[in-house]
Amino acid sequence: MKKYFIANWKLYLTIAKSELLATRLLATEKTNARRDVEFIVAPSMLALSSVVTLLKRAKSKIKIAAQDCGFADEGAFTGAVSPNELKKMGASYVIIGHSERRQYFAEDAALISKKITAARAAGLKIIYCVGETKDERNVGRAQAVVKEQLRGFAKDVDVIAYEPRWAIGTGIAIEPAEAEQMHEYISREVGGALPICYGGSVSDKNIAAFTRLQHSSGVLVGFASTTLQAIVAMLQKI
Ligand code: PEP
Repeated sequence: MKKYFIANWKLYLTIAKSELLATRLLATEKTNARRDVEFIVAPSMLALSSVVTLLKRAKSKIKIAAQDCGFADEGAFTGAVSPNELKKMGASYVIIGHSERRQYFAEDAALISKKITAARAAGLKIIYCVGETKDERNVGRAQAVVKEQLRGFAKDVDVIAYEPRWAIGTGIAIEPAEAEQMHEYISREVGGALPICYGGSVSDKNIAAFTRLQHSSGVLVGFASTTLQAIVAMLQKI
């Protein structure tokens, strides 16, 4: 089965650095490309257009995801980004519900629902993120929290990324066995129908442990996906 390698560059890279990394990825694509891996890169909004242009020019198989999108394609929505324009620009996927959007931009289920509807209407595939905080896990509420985040959305998304919030950007990943428990739970909740990826401090040291889990369809990688060396090392082990 195809594995996903989703590189979320967040706001780590400037436009120039994003273009440079994309150019380097393209230069090594022939050697590193894996037919069994869907390689998706999510540059910042400002870098998206020029990275798409580079990939298209090179006829690359690497796909583009937007890190977020707005809930409307036009109107009085200052600062919003049209899902339809993202699709026309060349994005195939969009990440929705990332915990950093939930935490720093106060995105709640109502807003996420509107974004999912708009992204689907635009023809974007949706990578939907779920995950509990450390406190929620400590009091045994991890599955309940994830169940609530999935409620009503599972039928409308294409990939689930399970990302325990305390493991994101901390260098401390969850134990693979605990990830497997949650992936199995999610798989049951969504009727086994969707690919489930793990995200949270994935690196070349631990990627194999997460991609080999029974209920794993790949990984969503943040910080470690911002250098060519680390990407190449991870693709070799996925
Ligand atoms: C993420 O961006 O969703 C993520 C998992 O980040 P990191 O790999 O840096 O923990």
